[in-house]
Amino acid sequence: MHDIRPQEVVDPWSSEQIITCHDKNTGLRAVVAIDDTTLGPGFGGVRLGEYPTAQAAIVEAQRLAAAMTLKHALAELPYGGAKSVIMLDGSAPTGAARERLFAAFGQFLARSPELYIPGVDMGTTLADMVTISDQGVTVYCAEHEPSPWTARGVHAALRAGAAHTLGTDDLAGVRISIQGAGSVGAALARLVAADGARVLISDIDSDRADRVAESVDGLAIDPGDAPFARCDIFAPCAIARVVTADSVDRLQCRLIIGAANDALDSPAVADLLHVAGITVVPDYVANAGGAIHEHARAMGWDEERLAEDVDRIGERVTRLLQSAQSSNEPPATVAGRLAAERLAAAGDV
Ligand code: NAD
Repeated sequence: MHDIRPQEVVDPWSSEQIITCHDKNTGLRAVVAIDDTTLGPGFGGVRLGEYPTAQAAIVEAQRLAAAMTLKHALAELPYGGAKSVIMLDGSAPTGAARERLFAAFGQFLARSPELYIPGVDMGTTLADMVTISDQGVTVYCAEHEPSPWTARGVHAALRAGAAHTLGTDDLAGVRISIQGAGSVGAALARLVAADGARVLISDIDSDRADRVAESVDGLAIDPGDAPFARCDIFAPCAIARVVTADSVDRLQCRLIIGAANDALDSPAVADLLHVAGITVVPDYVANAGGAIHEHARAMGWDEERLAEDVDRIGERVTRLLQSAQSSNEPPATVAGRLAAERLAAAGDV
């Protein structure tokens, strides 16, 4: 079940558009949040998960869609921010039932195909995207996994963040606690281990964490301990909202940088971490590699150009942290301002 605070209320006017979809035949209940289309059509993943209420699903779609707007603006991609959520009722359907569910969702999206470009997200697969695409919807990356590119971008961001915060981009001996041993977490573990970092890896699937730990000569730890482990860098690569106001005092790391969307519980947590001297690179800056990859595939770029663009995330992080240091603000504040300036400039054209 996604961790949504019940007191959060839907603010419909914080998004450009919210579309709810209900199909009686398949039982589909979905929400598409279009946060901002100043830079182009809304682009963002489709999440499949359990939510306590429809309101919780809407709030999640809105928050994630807003982060996509920032991600695309900062990565200079020609897309708006969007995200969709399909509410699960019990366990995830498989086989023909799953295909019918995603076909029904695709038919809703096909009603306004220029508005939203869907992609893979937590709980959905490339095969689901093919089903959506079969309904006449443009889908990016139905053949290629974005995760290795997301991990590559987080790795570039992490090295830049370490250079700024720890004074070295040489990760040899640096302790990195990675929460989530899934597609991105496992790939990131391999990349930083190749740099000589000491990897602490955790997952609610302990076998998965053990396998990754063994492959990188690291240590599997309890997933709940991941944010609080004795480490230099905490890399959230699983669920949202893992760092809360109450947990700031227990953190031992100096840098937080990872793939998980919406890793901080609220913007106020970024301020608390800033005061505590812990640098946070916003997730929407660090995890843009997957979005860059999907854009590159759609544009027909070769691997070399794609790799260069993904690695450029490191340069963005360096500039962001330098700017945040000189204005003594949390990096998220500076990143938000920069994105707002880009959106305003694009809106004026
Ligand atoms: P994934 O589903 O492959 O892996 C997530 C892993 O987290 C799973 O192994 C799961 O068991 C584990 N997990 C779930 N709850 C946990 C918890 N409480 N503690 C520890 N582990 C837990 O997902 P992924 O593709 O690796 O993505 C990881 C995160 O990065 C997600 O938040 C995703 O939205 C974000 N992200 C991914 C991409 C991408 O290209 N895959 C791009 C941008 C952002």
